[in-house]
Parts: sequence; C-alpha cells; structure tokens
Amino acid sequence: MPELPEVEIVCTGLNQATSGLTITGGQVLLERTIAHPVPHQELFWQSLVGLHIINWSRRGKYLIASLANDRDEDSGFLAVHLRMTGQLLWLKQYEPLSKHTRVRFFFGQIQELRFVDIRTFGKIWLIPAGMSPESIITSLGGLGIEPLSAGFTVDYLIDRLSKRNNKIKNILLDQSIIAGVGNIYADESLFESRIHPETIACSLTKSNCQDLQKSVVNVLKRGIEQGGTTIRDFRTVTGINGNYGGVAWVYGRAGQPCRICGGLIQKIKLAGRSSHFCPKCQASPT
Ligand SMILES: [Zn+2]
Repeated sequence: MPELPEVEIVCTGLNQATSGLTITGGQVLLERTIAHPVPHQELFWQSLVGLHIINWSRRGKYLIASLANDRDEDSGFLAVHLRMTGQLLWLKQYEPLSKHTRVRFFFGQIQELRFVDIRTFGKIWLIPAGMSPESIITSLGGLGIEPLSAGFTVDYLIDRLSKRNNKIKNILLDQSIIAGVGNIYADESLFESRIHPETIACSLTKSNCQDLQKSVVNVLKRGIEQGGTTIRDFRTVTGINGNYGGVAWVYGRAGQPCRICGGLIQKIKLAGRSSHFCPKCQASPT
C-alpha cells in the first residue's frame, strides 16, 4: 500500500501535471470507485466539469485537490485514496486503456489523468462547495499528526506512547496517532531506532522516544528522496518506480544479512501484518 512518501510523490506529480487545468469531462468505468456522491454518474460530472484544479495536497494517505470555478471561487474538493493498488497516471489519450482503469479525467489536453486500480479498493470523493473534506470522509477527521510537520515532537510521541499498552509496531500503524506511516516505514523506523517491534509502547524510555521520533522523520524523508518504494504497484504519475526498496534496512529483506551487523533479518506476523527486524540490532523486549 502506498504510504506517506509514495502519496507525497504522487501529490508532487499531480501538481506538476494538472494544477491550473480545467476538467472538461471524464468517464467512470467502475461505479464503486466513486465513494461520493452516490449514486454518482450524472451528479459527479455535472458538478466537476468546468472547474479547475487550484492545487493538490496530502493529508495522511489522502490526496486532496482544491477546486475553483471560472470566477476563481472555491468550489469544493476532489479527494483520492489509493488504498492497496491505486495509481494516478498522467497518460496520452491515445494510449490504450489498461483493463484496470477505473476513472478517467479529461482536461482538453493531449494527456488525461487515469485512476488505475487492480484490487479496486481505491476511492474517489467529490466534496461539494461549502463542505469540508472531513464532513464527507469521516476517517480524515480522525487522523493523527503529520509526522513531517513541526508538531511531531518528542513530547508528542512521549505523550501518545505513555498511555498505550500495545506493541509499538501496532501503534506506529495507528493512523489516529501518526498519519501516513504504514508497514514499510514503521519497520524501517523501528530498525533505525533499534527498537524491537514487539516492545510495549509505554515501556519505551525517553531516549527510545527521542530516537524513534528522529527515525520516523528520517526514513520518511529518505523514502521521498528515493522516489518511494515499489513493491508491485506503486508508480509516480509518469509511471516511474520507486527506489527505496533497494536501500531499505529491513523491509522486504527477510533472510538477508543486516546492513549493520550481518545477522539475518527476520519476519514475524504482528496484528496480521508482516514485521521485519534484525534480532541482534533490535533486542527482544522479553
Ligand atoms: Zn543487525
């Protein structure tokens, strides 16, 4: 699943490709991709056509375009969640449609924006003028802090972790605490701060929390610098794969030697998700 770095990279690409462009039409090939309004077909395009995209921003793993009409009045938002396999691709109109194309947006240009999604969990919302994205997408309102914002401090982390009896790996995946961190960058942050993924959150020392705060920021920034992580499906809007997988500490490296100590990276299941760690560098909490 695309995480903060991948969504941030898509956001940058969308701004380069579509900022300032007016939506002239489009096509929905899979009805259930449109999460709002429902039923969508006519209302979706009726509301959208003629509006232009001011810019795209990211909140957690959501992409949100601010829309305006031809009098430059704020005219609502278009929001996208890529979920497992969603891709937003800026393609020439004559390029053949892949069978996984779910929605197409036209801008009166040679290129169009295609939402391609193999697993079909991805969603698109149109938020009407005068309403906030949070009022339609309730999970958006419940998101925790942005880890690359100034508010993500050691004190914030200590405050949130000191009350939790859960394993730290599960806490890092909780979007209501830190928005945008998923399985890849949680494993990477825990390795970089030398914390075992099964450590109980409230047992972490202040020094652990300082290391973890720094590591979360570091690995997310490194993920963005490397163009994200491509496991199978992540692509930039121009179709380029990410390189983080090639420099990852532990994620996707089970059975391979640790880059620090040479011991073998292990993989375990935690809350249904695979967790990668080095048993030597990340001492077991028990
Ligand atoms: Zn190691």
